[in-house]
Amino acid sequence: MTRSILEALDRYAEQSPEALALDDVTYRELRAASLRVAAKFRDAGVRAGDRIAIYAENRPGFVYAYLGGLRAGAIVVPVNVLYRTADLEHVLEDAEPTVVCVSEQSAPFAAELPGRRLVQLADAELWARDGAIAALADPPPPQADDVAILIYTSGTTGRSKGAELSHRNLGAIADQLVEAWRWTGDDTLLLTLPLFHVHGLGAGLNGTIVAGARALLRERFDAASVVAELDAGNATMFFGVPTMYVRILEQAGPSVRFEHVRLFVSGSAALPATVHEEFARRFGISILERYGSTEFGFALSNRYDGPRHAGTVGFPLPQVEIRLADPDGNDVAAGEAGEILVHGPNVSRGYWRNDDASQDAFVNDAQGRRWYRSGDLATFDPERGYIINGRLKELVISGGFNVYPIEVETELLRIPGITAAALVGQPDAARGEIPVAFIETNADYDEEATLATLRERLASFKVPKALYRVETLPRNAMGKVEKTRLRAALTEKSTRA
Ligand code: AMP
Repeated sequence: MTRSILEALDRYAEQSPEALALDDVTYRELRAASLRVAAKFRDAGVRAGDRIAIYAENRPGFVYAYLGGLRAGAIVVPVNVLYRTADLEHVLEDAEPTVVCVSEQSAPFAAELPGRRLVQLADAELWARDGAIAALADPPPPQADDVAILIYTSGTTGRSKGAELSHRNLGAIADQLVEAWRWTGDDTLLLTLPLFHVHGLGAGLNGTIVAGARALLRERFDAASVVAELDAGNATMFFGVPTMYVRILEQAGPSVRFEHVRLFVSGSAALPATVHEEFARRFGISILERYGSTEFGFALSNRYDGPRHAGTVGFPLPQVEIRLADPDGNDVAAGEAGEILVHGPNVSRGYWRNDDASQDAFVNDAQGRRWYRSGDLATFDPERGYIINGRLKELVISGGFNVYPIEVETELLRIPGITAAALVGQPDAARGEIPVAFIETNADYDEEATLATLRERLASFKVPKALYRVETLPRNAMGKVEKTRLRAALTEKSTRA
């Protein structure tokens, strides 16, 4: 059991000091970098429990600032680098960091204020290499239950909240993935996911360190270079969000085989079954889909050895317990849809300075065990595992019938000419809501044929009553469709009508 990411880093720095950890940086060098940067943070007045925000793209300095911040006993706050003005101010006002680490690109958007110092990641990169470490006092290691990071939720339903993840939570999140996905020191992960998100940081970087493996850190996802690097055998693992897999399929030429990659993982949004199937057909590779969230890292994963079924997220990770609950908190009957509740050593204890939100999202059971209410709906199939039906708040209830968006989106994506789809509820006087779909299409699209096919495949109440073609669906930094913006567009349509 890994009690903290630093503990794992120290262990490999001792056991295999010359093994590569991050690009060409060894475990010995990475540990030294964390000590040197911690010393600089402490010189700058950072004390245990102070916050250090990192508002930047993926680069080595991000990793040094993160590990140095943890080593200094600070709480690290990764901030979405796409945030500007209102979102950025909200996070910085809420977390009150003493130091904000920035890149040349992000610096102009973050202001230096009394009590808040800006540090350039380029400087952190210099500090990481500079000076003897023997002279540095090793700060007392943080306790396993101290908060290690605050990750702000994507804020799809209101103001974003800082989920507190302790050192123990981070260790447990990484341990589970290392065990479930057979991650070892022989692996190299091509890491293009943003480090400000739990997928890039909690799975990608922390998993690498806990496995004693290597990560190749890239500033952003670029489909052409990812295909070239993976096909050249530079990495054994790749983690992505569904839109990345769509781009990889578009980009990969007929000679591409990916034969050195032993594991492709998808998560953060539903992987369309069509993408899973096409990947299998073209490369003979079954993408492993998993389910996770900022508040607990990861909870469900298809089995490494077992069949990886399209449209399912598999079974609980080691040490994770899952329940499917009705609105009163009782377990639903077998086969019924319910809200996913998560319990385990990976689960956050609550939101930073927000007791009301914590009380809404976390519940204690009769044994005093804490469960996170995910707000996601799922059903369980004993053979195939859990099937995510979408967000509870995005469920469309039409004339009293439940329409699960993912089910309809999956069917839409099977239709030639539709390249992306999002189903939302449009207010309707007679039925409360009616399902309508926003779609991205190409030249093969034919609306009449689409509707005819949908009527054959879906119960009539699930068939979208309107298909709105858009150039591109609004997506957040993780490629997730922002349905609140689609619903706002519908309200605008109806007020203009
Ligand atoms: P975030 O906190 O940004 O990681 O978002 C977490 C949310 O992403 C979850 O609550 C789900 O709604 C969604 N999500 C994550 N993984 C999946 C998946 N494999 N399939 C469907 N939705 C997912």
